[in-house]
Order: sequence, then structure tokens, then C-alpha cells
Amino acid sequence: MVWFAPRVLLTMLAALFGGWLGEWLATQWALPTIPVTLMGATLGVGLFVARDAWRGSRLSAWLSRPEGGAPVSSLGLWGDLAVRAERALRARERDTAQERERLTQFLQAIEASPNGVVLLDAGDHITWCSRVAADHLGLQVERDLLQRITNLVRAPAFVQYLADPRPEQTVVIPAPQGNGQLSLMLRRYGTEGQRLLLVQDVTVRERQEAMRRDFVANVSHEIRTPLTVLSGFVETMHTLPLTEVERDRVLVLMSQQTQRMQTLVGDLLTLARLEGSPRPAVDDWAPLARVGQAVEAEARGLSAGAHHLSFEWGEALEVGGAEAELASALANLVNNAVRYTPAGGTVRIKAQRAHDGALHIAVTDTGPGIAAEHLPRLTERFYRVDSSRSRETGGTGLGLSIVKHVAQRHGGELRIDSLPGRGSTFTLVLPPTRLRAATPR
Ligand code: ADP
Repeated sequence: MVWFAPRVLLTMLAALFGGWLGEWLATQWALPTIPVTLMGATLGVGLFVARDAWRGSRLSAWLSRPEGGAPVSSLGLWGDLAVRAERALRARERDTAQERERLTQFLQAIEASPNGVVLLDAGDHITWCSRVAADHLGLQVERDLLQRITNLVRAPAFVQYLADPRPEQTVVIPAPQGNGQLSLMLRRYGTEGQRLLLVQDVTVRERQEAMRRDFVANVSHEIRTPLTVLSGFVETMHTLPLTEVERDRVLVLMSQQTQRMQTLVGDLLTLARLEGSPRPAVDDWAPLARVGQAVEAEARGLSAGAHHLSFEWGEALEVGGAEAELASALANLVNNAVRYTPAGGTVRIKAQRAHDGALHIAVTDTGPGIAAEHLPRLTERFYRVDSSRSRETGGTGLGLSIVKHVAQRHGGELRIDSLPGRGSTFTLVLPPTRLRAATPR
């Protein structure tokens, strides 16, 4: 509107000027005044319009110039208009680019999250999906866009949850691919019934939770058995008049049960200490021979001459780490060999350096051996191949678990080879960094 009035004024001026010029010419050359005046006015307006048309065509040429062409000049109103329009356009383009950049960064931040995000419209169609969510749910980002999510994730628990989500609650479903577990949570957003689906991989958490439950159940079970036996004996002593001999027998049995509980609690505490403390220092050196002597004495006491025992500790070495832990690990292996090998069998302990400099302390027995399917699980807490033999001989089911922990804490490992009917070899491997030649005293 600002430019409208001046333009009308200019057009009228052009008409007036043309008319005045026509009239002047008519009087000069004695021509008919009215027609010539009208022609002059028309010519004035015509020239003004022609000038506008010429500027319009220049403007059109300027608008179709390549990006960054010379600025428009001397086009009067049209040029001014074009420059303003272009400036507004550029400003809007800049805003759009900034918005796009912000959106990209926002999406990148969501993509960086370890949890997956899926956006659903009111009809549960996927409108956006992060790569983590796609990976967890087995989706293909481009292909599955605008698909209904229940056509792709069909776990009944999820379908039910989608139909009736409880606020703040999640649903755990098996991962569509692989053997993991996913936790899913729905949140409403927007005004049109859109929903946000958060996907979290809870495989490790669920496994740990299951392990914790199993552990508590196992410990309770292990303690309940001797406790039941003990309370039975207490009851017997209370209610029945026992002879001196019977009383002594019952007391021996009771002390066996308390011993069993004490051993179990001792092993549990050892495990807890091993799991909760930092790795033993490398520069606490102990002679292997001294560790060996303690192990040997314990094994001979346990076997009480029923087995052929042989000990070869090899070259004079010192081991770096926690001496008590290493002695307890070795004693566990040797005692197991003695406990599971029938009388008359052989138990052989041999320490030697391998090509890579590691120390292999192998405990070989001629006992019953262990079937291959048990081997991977032997170091699990409370895993037993033969439960009755384990309990008869005072086993807690925690021994090999302790050995594995000690080995790992010293940067080594426990290897198990066994053939049913032939015997077993348990090898404690210690890395060269934990070994040095013994200093002569
Ligand atoms: P436990 O206290 O029951 O001996 P361990 O953790 O020391 O527990 O051993 C786990 C299981 O491995 C034992 O219950 C036993 O069945 C088996 N096992 C361990 N050592 C031997 C061995 N030398 N010969 C045969 N079986 C063994």
C-alpha cells in the first residue's frame, strides 16, 4: 500500500505532462486541441507503462540469474521489491537450515543413546525409529517405516501391553532375534495420540537377577539340609532317653553337620572376598615350594595313605600375588582329586613352564573322570556332577568356582581335561608376569 499512492500520482503526472505537451504542440502548430491533448496524455501514460514493462523484463532476467549474480540496481520500485522479497526468502532459508541442523543434532543425540526409540502414530504405525531400536527389534528402518508395529513385533505380551499400557510400567519380551531380553516402555506425547516406545536391552540385568535368585535359593538349600538334620538330633536328645554310646554318636553326627555349615559359610566368605577385592599385587612374591608344602601336607592328611600321591614342583620359582589365595586354589584342586579318586588310585601334581613362559600346575588323578557335557559348567557355584559324593566328602560345590576366581585374579586360568572312567586333569595356569626365579637364601 505504501507504494500504491505515489505510483498512481506518477501515472497521473505522466498523463498530465503528456496532455500539457500535446496542448502546447496543438497551439504551436494550430492543430485540433482536444484530440492532440488526449493523444499527449495517452502517450505520457504509455511511456510510463513501457518504462515499467522494460524494468519488469530486467527484473525477470535478474530473478532467473544464477545464484550470487550481480545485485539489481536502477529498477526502481520493482528492484526494491525484488531485493526485499529475496532478503525475506534468504532469511527463511537460513531459519529452515538452522531448524534442520537442530533436528539432525537432536536425532543424532537420540541415536547415541544405548536405548532404542520408536515413534508411533495414533494407529501404531512407525513414523521414526532409531538404529538401536531397529537392531533390538529386528526392524529395517527404511522398509518398515509406516508399518504397523504389531505386524513386526508379535510377542503376545507386547501386543497386549500396546493395547493397554499401564503408566510407568514396562514389559519384558524375548528379543525377536537372538536369545536376549528386551524391556519396552510406552509414553504418550503430542496431541494426536502419538506414542513413544523406549526399547532397552536387559539381557545382562535379567541374567544377573536370575543368578542372584539362584544363588540365594542354592545357599538356602545348602544350609537348610544340615539345619534340618541338626534340629532333628536336638529333638531326639530332648525327647528320647539315650544311652551314653547313643548320645556320643548323635553328638558326632551333629558336629559333622555344624562343620559342614562352617565350611560352607567359610567358602561363601572366601568367594565374596575374592569378588569384592582388587587384584593381588604383582610384587608380593612367595616361593612356590612353600605354597606346595602346605598343599602337600593337607592332601596327605586327607588321603591318609589311601592314594599314591606324587608332587613335582619343578624349578625353583617364586609366584607373585596372594600366597593364601594361591595355596587355597591349589589345595582345592588336590583335595578334589583325593576326594573323588577311589582308594588305591593315583594323584599326581606337576608344575612346569610352558613354551610361552607360563607356569602350568597340573593335578592329574585316576578317578572317575567327568563327562564332557559337565565340563563347561563345573566352575559355576554349587554345580556338582555327583552331588552325593560331593556332600559325603564334605564338598560345598564352591571349590572350583574359588579356583577359577583366584586364577583370573592372577591373570591366569583354570583348564579342565577329563575322560569318564580314565581320570581328570585340572591345570592352574599362571602368566610369566607373575613368575620369577627363586632367590637362593
Ligand atoms: P565340590 O565341593 O562339590 O567338590 P567343586 O566346585 O570343587 O565342588 O567341584 C565341582 C564338581 O566337580 C564336584 O561336585 C565334582 O562332581 C566334580 N569334580 C571336581 N573335581 C573332580 C575330580 N578330580 N574328579 C571327578 N570329579 C570332580
